[in-house]
Amino acid sequence: MAKISINIATGSLQQAEMIVGIDLGTTNSLVAIIHPETKKPVALKEHDSSSLVPSIVHFDEYGNASVGEVAKGFLETEPQNTIFSAKRLMGKSYNDVKNNAGFFTYKVIDDNTESLVKVQVGNQFYSPIDLSSFILKELKQRAEHILKTPVTKAVITVPAYFNDAQRQATRDAGKLAGLDVLRIINEPTAASLAYGLGLEKDDERTIAVYDLGGGTFDVSILKITNGIFEVLSTNGDTYLGGDDFDRLIIQHWLKEIGLTEEELHTNKQLAQTLRLIAEEAKKHLSSNEVFEFTLPELTTNDSRLSTASLRLTTYDFNLLIAPLIEKTITSCSNALKDAGLTTTDIDTIVMVGGSTRVPAVKNAVSTFFGKPVNDSVNPDEVVALGAAVQADILAGNNKDFLLLDITPLSLGLETMGGLMDVLIPRNSKIPTKVGRQYTTYQDGQSGMRISVFQGERDLVKDNRKLAEFNLTGIPGMPAGLPKVEVNFLINADGILVVTAKELRSGVQQSIEVKPQYGLTDAEVEQMLLDSITHAKDDIQTRALVEARTEGEQILTVTEKFLTKNASLISKDEMLATANAMQALQLAITMEDKNLIQTKTEELNEVTRPFAERAMDAAISGAMKGQNIMG
Ligand code: AMP
Repeated sequence: MAKISINIATGSLQQAEMIVGIDLGTTNSLVAIIHPETKKPVALKEHDSSSLVPSIVHFDEYGNASVGEVAKGFLETEPQNTIFSAKRLMGKSYNDVKNNAGFFTYKVIDDNTESLVKVQVGNQFYSPIDLSSFILKELKQRAEHILKTPVTKAVITVPAYFNDAQRQATRDAGKLAGLDVLRIINEPTAASLAYGLGLEKDDERTIAVYDLGGGTFDVSILKITNGIFEVLSTNGDTYLGGDDFDRLIIQHWLKEIGLTEEELHTNKQLAQTLRLIAEEAKKHLSSNEVFEFTLPELTTNDSRLSTASLRLTTYDFNLLIAPLIEKTITSCSNALKDAGLTTTDIDTIVMVGGSTRVPAVKNAVSTFFGKPVNDSVNPDEVVALGAAVQADILAGNNKDFLLLDITPLSLGLETMGGLMDVLIPRNSKIPTKVGRQYTTYQDGQSGMRISVFQGERDLVKDNRKLAEFNLTGIPGMPAGLPKVEVNFLINADGILVVTAKELRSGVQQSIEVKPQYGLTDAEVEQMLLDSITHAKDDIQTRALVEARTEGEQILTVTEKFLTKNASLISKDEMLATANAMQALQLAITMEDKNLIQTKTEELNEVTRPFAERAMDAAISGAMKGQNIMG
């Protein structure tokens, strides 16, 4: 028995290496790992401080950047130098964001309206990728400081609705920060992982992930089957979140005090103080009925302020935010509609984002879906924790769990005519095992070359050769009689094991072949990324590619057969075959899978009678491409 061991997914990865999970959020970001002792995901924090790093970058007059809490302190006082919500600009042109230009207190520009935006601070220009890289660098340093070890590899999360450009931008930001981004995963997928969903082999369920953060809201409907997460639909509002709750509280108080919003705008200090108190009130009301704050503590000489006290009850707060909650519920309803589901189809609801701590939000979601929600994991940390779970699986530390992975490229053998015979198509779930029988091509053939290739092309010369070995010692038999079973097995670690055995004689050989990697991490990642973002398209593309591969295989084999067996075929048959081949050739150049299949079937129909004749004449044809080169 010959064995080849190839780590196709994580080729260069070291077992002991620490891979961190990063939630690069609009409002806050954080980094998490699997605790080496408890084996549970934990968010990293310095001593008593919060695990959350505000996603804010401040530049001083010399262009030095500070990130997080320090930068947050400059939000109100130096708005033009303090960049928040850079995530909203990722992969965007000015055209994309101009409707919300008023949202940004700093200068967002571009050269022409189609190119990607930049942020101007002083006379420096920063791309959203640069800005995100500052945040990621801070997280990397923080993790290194806490873990006391270099951190170079990460899994980073993005919203499920992020397009290719936005995912690529996130990946680039990681690279700029000195991180090897092993995987970009969807935030709702990460949140589900943090709850252990999808980690059991047979876990099949439909999940709604409701994510209400500081500035954004989204809901995703996911389906998990055999460890594969498929995003069925997403919906939401990228300008709706806890900050809006704070704003409503401020407006409510301003009305009570008798101040206008314009007056507040002219007093930056008061605006900042009120914003902080409003947020405190909101958080307080998540576990209390009343919030009270006496204003005299404010240093102001405005008489309206010195006499007023800030008070808010849960009842009033709920009334204020009811329209916003209602908006999120409408989004949930639309997401379900897009997924072709109803509330009863949802098995599990996962809550994400700090604003889901608001009891009225929880109740509304639970009432809508008719089920209690999952909120036991800290909603600020749940995404990063899930990213850490994914990172741990990638690191190969978590052997009990199914690897949530898919084969990035198809794996197969070289068959007759230099064709790629795919045993494990790309995007197959891992672990997987596929066996196929082959036979010899020449009488008395005693050896068989097994060449393993990886790639999507029909001819092996266009794909990558991973390994090769010879199964020798097959006893002399007429061509077509030996039965060589080749098995491809990808285990949960992403290791491919190829075995070959001749079944009639039982001959098997042990030949260890050194794997030949030809694949850079970036290429594998790109494939993984594509397969995550285009899960649905990929299935269609694969079907088309497979139909084309099969069509082309049939064409090649038919052509060979015709030259070899011309004497057995009548003129009419030859003409009919030529016509059918031409029709198939034409179909293959088109995008219609069904047409290719129909034309393939038609060619098969035409050739079947003389193929059978040829078989009867004991000529070992190989209409199905089952012969391996001798
Ligand atoms: P995130 O973007 O997920 O970090 O969420 C941050 C948002 O959650 C901010 O608007 C916070 O004010 C809000 N938040 C955090 N804790 C609470 C709480 N206990 N009650 C209500 N909102 C909260």
